[in-house]
Amino acid sequence: MQSLYVHFPFCEAKCHYCDFYSLGRERTRAGDDTRFERALSREISLMGEHLAPELDTIFFGGGTPSMTPPEAMARALEPLWRFTRVTPATEWSMEANPSSITLEKMKAYRTLGVNRISMGVQALKPELLQSLGRVHSRETALRALAEVFEAGFDNVSVDLLCGVPGQTLQDLDAAIGKLTSFPISHLSCYLLTLPPHHPLFAALPDEEAQLDHLLHLDAAMREKGFEHYEISNFSKPGKRARHNLNTWTGKAYLGLGPSAHSYDPAAEKRWKTVSSLHKYVALLEEGRSPVEQIEKLTTEQYQLERWMLALRLDEGIPCAWLDTPARRARCEIMQKQGLIEPHPCLADRVRLTARGFALSDQVIAALA
Ligand code: SF4
Repeated sequence: MQSLYVHFPFCEAKCHYCDFYSLGRERTRAGDDTRFERALSREISLMGEHLAPELDTIFFGGGTPSMTPPEAMARALEPLWRFTRVTPATEWSMEANPSSITLEKMKAYRTLGVNRISMGVQALKPELLQSLGRVHSRETALRALAEVFEAGFDNVSVDLLCGVPGQTLQDLDAAIGKLTSFPISHLSCYLLTLPPHHPLFAALPDEEAQLDHLLHLDAAMREKGFEHYEISNFSKPGKRARHNLNTWTGKAYLGLGPSAHSYDPAAEKRWKTVSSLHKYVALLEEGRSPVEQIEKLTTEQYQLERWMLALRLDEGIPCAWLDTPARRARCEIMQKQGLIEPHPCLADRVRLTARGFALSDQVIAALA
């Protein structure tokens, strides 16, 4: 496995819309960070043999990895270097939240080997940040972004949200304009989704307005020189997120830390670590594996996943995959609807259009 994911489970406060496994400060006890650090070291010792001698990508996600001090990360990673190493070509990404960034810390993460930062900005308008329950302000986000560049990072991504209650196209434009005034190389923008029982569910924009947001985003980012290379991701040429691309193209990855997923296509297996910091720590303290689910993929599941992942990407799928009359007919209908198009550069492939990306759930469900 040439890709490694590590899940850091701590956040300053739990955002009300967040589905990832993470604990806000109010749900942690003194010493949890040290217990996590030790448990991660133990898990690396247990699982490190799955890793290739050289890593192509590392991704520190969460949660908020930038809440873990660089020296604690270095200690936790010590056993890793018995199994593998990074090279100058390794992409090592780390998620960071504006309120936990300082210039000194960012310099230390760089010294550790991190060379790509993915910063969770989500919005810049104070009212939107407040309704999302984010702990940072517009000023903190802009100061943090400036410090990331000052620390020497030159491969920087930001996360935005669209489809937020009260958000207008002008708000989206203003955020994109301000963020791209920094030399960012990548932007991920997700549509805010909430479960029906959520207090803000009724305030979400309707489907038409969501589609407007997504199409507007596509046009605005292309105008700024970014490629729309995946449903929710835009990059400057040559700056696509390699770790995520490895996942989307079905390559093997090892996930460590609570709630992390792993995938081994050679063994047709996927597995997941327990989504509980306390269980994770307890199991590893007993020398036991924290893996709670192992799934053996059937051929049908494998094929379906291959379709779903390939359609997410700008490269699309080979026309040869449209191997039944029914699929070809559905594809033709969707071409007429402007959801799919022949790839403009790659022969014998079709891909989703900007509208197809915005309505990808329906397109993928109809074709796969
Ligand atoms: S900071 Fe990120 S990971 Fe943490 S709760 Fe908020 S959205 Fe979730």
